[in-house]
Amino acid sequence: MYHQPVLKNRRTLLERAEKFISDIYFTDCNLRGRLYGDTCPLKSLSSYLSEKRIPFSEAVTKNFQPYNVGDNFGPTWWTCWFKLSLTIPEKWRGKEVHLRWESDGEGMVWKDGQPVQGLTKEGEKTSYILTDCLQDGEPHSWDLYVELGCNGLFGAGQGSMIAAPDPDKKFSVQKAELVVFNRDVRELLTDFEMLVDIVKLLGEGEQRGFQALFTANEMVNLCDPANPSSFPAARSLAQKFFKQKNGESQHVVHAMGHCHIDSAWLWPYEETIRKCGRSWVTVIRLMEKNPDFIFTCSQAQEFQWVKEWYPGLYSEIQQHVQQGRFIPVGGTWVEMDGNLPSGESMVRQFLEGQNFFKAEFGKYCKEFWLPDTFGYSAQLPQIMQGSGITRFLTQKLSWNLVNTFPHNTFFWEGIDGSQVLTHFPPGNSYEMKGKVEDLMNTLKNNKDKGRANHSAALFGFGDGGGGPTQLMLDRLDRVQDTDGLPKVLMSSPDQLFSALEDDSGLLCRWTGELFLELHNGTYTTQAKIKQGNRQCEVLLHDVEVSSCLAMCKSKGFPYPAAKLQEIWRLLLLNQFHDVLPGSCIEMVVDDALAYYKEIECSGTRLLEEACKALALGVQTGACSAVLNTLAWERTEVVSLSTQEGTGPPKLALITVPSVGMAVIQENLAPSCPVTVTPQADGTVHMDNGILKAVLDQRGCVISLKLANTNREAIADGCLGNQFVVFDDVPLYWDAWDVMDYHLQTRKPVVEVVKRAAVTRSGGLRGSVSFSLRISDRSAITQEVILDAHCPYLKFNTQVEWAESHKFLKVEFPVRVRNPNATYEIQFGHLQRPTHRNTSWDWARFEVWGHKWADLSEHGFGVAVLNDCKYGYSCHDNTLTLSLLRAPKAPDLHADMGSHQFTYALMPHMGCFQEASVIQHAYNLNFPLRLMPKAIGQLQQPWSAFSVSGDAVVLETIKQAETKKNALVVRLYESHGGSASVTVSTPLALKEAWQCDLLERADPEGRVAVTSSGISMDFRPFQVRSLLLFLE
Ligand SMILES: [Zn+2]
Repeated sequence: MYHQPVLKNRRTLLERAEKFISDIYFTDCNLRGRLYGDTCPLKSLSSYLSEKRIPFSEAVTKNFQPYNVGDNFGPTWWTCWFKLSLTIPEKWRGKEVHLRWESDGEGMVWKDGQPVQGLTKEGEKTSYILTDCLQDGEPHSWDLYVELGCNGLFGAGQGSMIAAPDPDKKFSVQKAELVVFNRDVRELLTDFEMLVDIVKLLGEGEQRGFQALFTANEMVNLCDPANPSSFPAARSLAQKFFKQKNGESQHVVHAMGHCHIDSAWLWPYEETIRKCGRSWVTVIRLMEKNPDFIFTCSQAQEFQWVKEWYPGLYSEIQQHVQQGRFIPVGGTWVEMDGNLPSGESMVRQFLEGQNFFKAEFGKYCKEFWLPDTFGYSAQLPQIMQGSGITRFLTQKLSWNLVNTFPHNTFFWEGIDGSQVLTHFPPGNSYEMKGKVEDLMNTLKNNKDKGRANHSAALFGFGDGGGGPTQLMLDRLDRVQDTDGLPKVLMSSPDQLFSALEDDSGLLCRWTGELFLELHNGTYTTQAKIKQGNRQCEVLLHDVEVSSCLAMCKSKGFPYPAAKLQEIWRLLLLNQFHDVLPGSCIEMVVDDALAYYKEIECSGTRLLEEACKALALGVQTGACSAVLNTLAWERTEVVSLSTQEGTGPPKLALITVPSVGMAVIQENLAPSCPVTVTPQADGTVHMDNGILKAVLDQRGCVISLKLANTNREAIADGCLGNQFVVFDDVPLYWDAWDVMDYHLQTRKPVVEVVKRAAVTRSGGLRGSVSFSLRISDRSAITQEVILDAHCPYLKFNTQVEWAESHKFLKVEFPVRVRNPNATYEIQFGHLQRPTHRNTSWDWARFEVWGHKWADLSEHGFGVAVLNDCKYGYSCHDNTLTLSLLRAPKAPDLHADMGSHQFTYALMPHMGCFQEASVIQHAYNLNFPLRLMPKAIGQLQQPWSAFSVSGDAVVLETIKQAETKKNALVVRLYESHGGSASVTVSTPLALKEAWQCDLLERADPEGRVAVTSSGISMDFRPFQVRSLLLFLE
């Protein structure tokens, strides 16, 4: 058809096409105005409001009252159930008919007692298809239910998304009706949308953009919105454009449906169960209509929830998993925080996750999937490899505030040298919408152009769930191979990574951690969650060790495998990447703390039972026996009674062998008793023959010397144990972020409430207490403790904290010079700079570590140990431990109240490895456990396991998952060097095998057990696991 040539005005043509599909302008005559046809009201609509989340079977028994569209209901977190009766008019024969439902909140449609589809305005799901083409023979009338949660996809923030939830929000339904849906209009609209986007995104520099422009313009010419018979001609013009193919070298985008569902964040765990149901049932509906659609889905915990709460949906999911379309990924129990969980916790994330996927779906995951976590430990590559995973997908480093990460596809190498193929989808998102923009970003941002010609594009609403829509699938379907755009392949993680592996010759390597230059406040926020995590990790370790020993010592002792799995799973759940980091609402904090309490109660009971069984073999007389769950001999002062308020507990000095027990010999005197001496000038001297400390009246450490060398640890003229407060106002992400500029607001805490005074005069233990005022609302009380035989000064700290946007830290300026400080991470340690040479250095002004950090120069160093903290920094010669923050969003009351924690200062000769800093940090965290008094016989101290050589830490002893007569023993090389050790045990072993982290024996890994034990060689930071079969 010939048209008068248009003027050379790109803008008018582009805007003409835009207005033709606008949902704001000209809808009386444009194409968009024709999307819906006739409407018809529901026959009846009634509602029932429930405070609790109740199952469908219970909801339908309730008394429903008539509901008028527009009526308000609520408040936040309640559920409104709707009963809908509807009849489709006879005259709509041959039409596609939808239930159109526009409301606040998140909805689920129930039909015949089954959940059938999610409905959320925010997730662009406001239609439930009743029929594709109404036939005479099919039912015209139904009763449906809609379960409407009174919260949005992103909770109910008051004023902004991350603000604390508004507890009194009101909700309403704005539209509930039957409507004729004009599919042909929808198809044409999608053609136009894609063409308009191509025009805009390719810009004026590419002729292909002009081809899209003229195609769209010609389509407007051809298309009469009032006359559907004009549509096919317009559509075929669009198809002609979309079908013009690329050359062979074009980049391939592997499109995968995805729905990131935070296990808890701006909503509680309980709501997440329903988010999974709503999102995943919608995915199944889409799969029925789109045979090529593939969906990737992570987090075993969420599958487990759906299995329990939506069994019908779960079996549909299982079928689609078998077809390879609904693809479980990730291999972990939840998408956990990538920094703070211990090494063993990380292993359990994979063990519980992979075992779940194997049991439920018949196979292990091959990809680790963690798109949204706030940094990634340098130990993860080894843990992945040990869990049967060689590939890793994330994208969060695209959030870096300072430096642009240089790769999208690369090999990531951990501290032990393990490597995994890693891909960051270049679109820098895990919730794309299948738009031209997403494809162009994927193409343009790819920093490995010429090295890797395949990228992932994950599409579907995420974070709060939602997932893909039909529109996203329609968009992607049009541009599978359209000249000028990357090729689009509906693909799977396996297909993507296989393609990347096949052509990986030019890929670069990144060694060490993937540090996120943002969200660095998450190492400190919600101190009680951090403390719960650390204490529960310790408790579960001790339960496992003591239960194994009880099983070996006392035949018939039942290893509490089921209970342990249950409480491990709770701990793993709380490690989710918005819970352990503390970036969640108050309701989630309450849930998390309740779970820790549950773990603590059950764990303590299990520990007591194991100790009771162990104590049966112990002759203690009137004295108690003590259990040491760590794999080295310990000589420590222990408290004999733990009752509070009845004066200071009685103390005893005891030596307990490695993973063993010993009976307390009361009145055992230390070779060098502690002395605490107040001086005339108000200072206090503390001395235990190892350390000599001088405290001032404010509790600051003026001097700390190693007694035998008189080497001073504190920098000249400086004070150790100096509390400091900073203004802590980030740019937006309150609970998440501490910004570099907070360092300019440093204010020392100097006001003394109670001067340093001696509280224990020495002998086995000396201590000094004092109190400081932080503000008129907040105060610190501290007891500084020096024990006999102990190489560190311990600070038992209590803080009353009622601040707003302040950050409390404690500083230790030390007489040490080194451009790098060392921090403990999972099964090892790494170094980070103490200077600010480059942007990569200064961006790490606040970093994370586990039980210790150390600053050493040749021959001498100082370590800071802690029992529940994770945030550190070290600038020049000042080691700083981060203690408490006071953000107000998303939890208005984050960290307000009383806190108790302990840290310690340990100067040492030589390097930290030789000084056993690693072991002492364990000692601070893993208390010697008093055992119940019992009758029996223990002539000698007893040790179940010991390791020759300090370098190798025996971390874990547990029953094997599937072999009841076998123990799994996990060890790692902790010094960062090669080591050969012998593991000794008096337990009768039938045989020993090397196994991986999933406890699969290596068929070639039979290990010789000789009379002296098991010889093992380690590479630096290598983690090794043994399966020990008991006689
Ligand atoms: Zn997330």
